[in-house]
Amino acid sequence: MKAELITVGTEILTGQILNTNAQFLSEKFAEIGIDVFFQTSVGDNRKRLLSVIELASKRSDLIVLCGGLGPTEDDLTKQTLAEFLGRQLVFDRQASQKLDAFFALRPEHVRTSNNERQAQIIEGSTPLQNRTGLAVGGYLSVNGVRYVVLPGPPSELQPMVSEELIPLISTEHMQLYSRVLRFFGIGESQLATILDSLIENQVDPTIAPYAKTGEVTLRLSTKACSQEEANAKLDALEADILAVTSLDGVLLKDLFYGYGDDNSLAKTVFSLLKEQGKTITAAESLTAGLFQSMLTDFPSSSQVFKGGYVTYSIEEKARMLDIPLSELKRHGVVSNFTAKKMAEQSRRLMESDIGIGLTGVAGPEELEGQQVGTVFIAIATKEKTQSLKVLIGGRTRSDVRYISTLYAFNLVRQSLLNS
Ligand code: ATP
Repeated sequence: MKAELITVGTEILTGQILNTNAQFLSEKFAEIGIDVFFQTSVGDNRKRLLSVIELASKRSDLIVLCGGLGPTEDDLTKQTLAEFLGRQLVFDRQASQKLDAFFALRPEHVRTSNNERQAQIIEGSTPLQNRTGLAVGGYLSVNGVRYVVLPGPPSELQPMVSEELIPLISTEHMQLYSRVLRFFGIGESQLATILDSLIENQVDPTIAPYAKTGEVTLRLSTKACSQEEANAKLDALEADILAVTSLDGVLLKDLFYGYGDDNSLAKTVFSLLKEQGKTITAAESLTAGLFQSMLTDFPSSSQVFKGGYVTYSIEEKARMLDIPLSELKRHGVVSNFTAKKMAEQSRRLMESDIGIGLTGVAGPEELEGQQVGTVFIAIATKEKTQSLKVLIGGRTRSDVRYISTLYAFNLVRQSLLNS
């Protein structure tokens, strides 16, 4: 929002008073993230005030006029703005009652039509009540431009700004900010259970879990006046969430892998490989190239991926990867041994920094007496080979294959982060 301040009063121009209202308003607006782009001072003159309002209406979204709301003849701010907007002045009930009460207590004071003007607002305005004086202020939006009129005396302007204007503008000025946290290695229901107390007490920011195939995201949302203000709130909640421990005793911090709606484990791994200048290859059985396909979804993937293997039959595992067939038969195709050998041999043959081996039972039939969803995933680097056995139960064939690649990407991610 682009704000502009117009301080009205000949005394400001002649140097009789210091324009402290402009300083006060600029400071208050900065606090709620509103940029003040112009400050103009103009004398008590209808024509010049009209020209200043006209210019401001073309370049600013929020125009704050202060001074000239009083009962004397030279107080013409409200009348001039009403003329510019082509609107009437109307009486505000609360301000009129205040005026009545004021004169009721002071019978010696003569009530003039000029006094009455102090209780008027421009038609369609939200009144800004004056706790310390008689002149009511106003807030009005016309053609996307917001106009504010405030009294000149700082003793009246300051409480009106703090108590009436800022709360009004803040609510309008607030935007929704959100942050998406992505987790792998925990289900939605467990995540919701362990975050139960945080979710139950949520007011602002709010937490919304969302399950995707094989992973879970948490959307944290907050209303704030600026990105900085939102960040402060979201940072604090994120820190609380990541410090929670899963039912298996793992910190959520270790299951968290990245931010954003359009992020993925594959993308995270791709970026880490690029950052570290490392290459990767894979020998895939049950996933038949899915891991390699997902890795090459990103432009310039040849920097990290030279090529790889789809070794579906036991014979091709032996032939393409140069693994003794008898060994494969002895350990079984769905085994730790085979996954490790696939990772090691693909890495060696493709001369890559990292090799991945994926073998398992995609289903719907069992294989070698192993149940559907049993998957062995191995990662080989120059230093060591590690493998992981997972059971991806109750899933379709395509989900088993997809989730297997996620486990593989997560292994690579952990290995790269620890290297
Ligand atoms: P009043 O009812 O007193 O006439 P008003 O809303 O018409 O109030 P002005 O007549 O413009 O306001 O100013 C009244 C007094 O408020 C000034 O004499 C001055 O002391 C103070 N004042 C006005 N504008 C400013 C300003 N920009 N910065 C600091 N003080 C100001």
